[in-house]
Amino acid sequence: MKKDYYEILGVGRSADKDEIKKAYRKLALKYHPDKNPDNKDAEDHFKEVNGAYEVLSNDDKRRRYDQFGHAGVDSSAASGGGAGGAYGAGGADFSDIFSAFNDMFSGGGGGGGQRRSRASAGIHGTDLKIRLKLSLEEIAKGVEKTLKIKKQVPCKECGGSGSKTGATETCPTCHGAGEVRQASKTMFGQFVNIAACPTCGGEGRIVKDRCTSCYGEGIKQGEVTVKVTVPAGVQDNNYLTLRGQGNSGPRGGAAGDLIVVIEEKPHEFFVRNGDDVIYSLAVSFPDIVLGTKVEVPTLDGAIKMTIPPSTQPETMLRIPGHGIGHLRGSGRGDQYVKVNVFVPKDLSQADKDILKGLRKSPGISPEAHGTGAEKSFFAKMKDIIG
Ligand SMILES: [Zn+2]
Ligand SMILES: [Zn+2]
Repeated sequence: MKKDYYEILGVGRSADKDEIKKAYRKLALKYHPDKNPDNKDAEDHFKEVNGAYEVLSNDDKRRRYDQFGHAGVDSSAASGGGAGGAYGAGGADFSDIFSAFNDMFSGGGGGGGQRRSRASAGIHGTDLKIRLKLSLEEIAKGVEKTLKIKKQVPCKECGGSGSKTGATETCPTCHGAGEVRQASKTMFGQFVNIAACPTCGGEGRIVKDRCTSCYGEGIKQGEVTVKVTVPAGVQDNNYLTLRGQGNSGPRGGAAGDLIVVIEEKPHEFFVRNGDDVIYSLAVSFPDIVLGTKVEVPTLDGAIKMTIPPSTQPETMLRIPGHGIGHLRGSGRGDQYVKVNVFVPKDLSQADKDILKGLRKSPGISPEAHGTGAEKSFFAKMKDIIG
């Protein structure tokens, strides 16, 4: 029975990356073979700690481990991430629609799995996920954003090598192979599981003269600016994958991806409906009956529009081309202006008198205009009541 990875590192299941990293460093230093020569116990602990860290420090592996336990990470560790890469398996955050979107803008497709293959040199940096809030105006036309993000960058002290002198030596655990074979007996027979070497993390070599600034990791927390080009028409929870813009890998390993998740800010005036936007406009009773010219806001600034005479409540008037840009294809959606009658709550006596006069006017009642429904309704009521 394998030990729980969280227990090995002595952290809670909700521990964040920093906590996990701190716990790992402490234990890795404590059990490091350099400090415990010829101590089999310490060596076993060290391997255990490395194995736990390899999984819990990787968003994808940690998610699979949380969901499926050791079974979720053991087999895929051997196959290097499996088909679909990071977001294929337990991707509760993202639906299929978003992965289609993802493919479209990263030019990716099946590259995800391959990219994480053990064959590539060094340990791959972890993916980084950030949320980007955008206004409807920005979404309507697309926008370029410059973001400041905190992420792991190569350590300046050691040039990312993790060593003061740049020296490395062959890993004593795997003798440079980068992987270890573990035979396990099950009721179906014996299986040989090939996993990344826990001592060197699959690199085959370990650092000599460890850099004290980065504890031999070759990476440190830093801040960078990243330009993100967001196409028009994105929706809440769509995401963009910026390949290689995530956390740098330890000791020169390739960087992970930066995943930018779109968040749409609610708009003061507009409600989005696909690529159209709806604006609700209340006009006075005389204006809706007689028609008027009004100024309405659009995503491109205010424009004048005509409310035709006898516009009925709830009418949707269309302003073509002032909606959201289509994500696929060119052009934009439309703006709809939903017209309603403004009914005042406080009226002056003078206004009340005008309305009372209007009420007596013969042409103002629905009966006078006999739209079929009302007329037959009232006629029927008369028949029933007698
Ligand atoms: Zn360093
Ligand atoms: Zn090794």
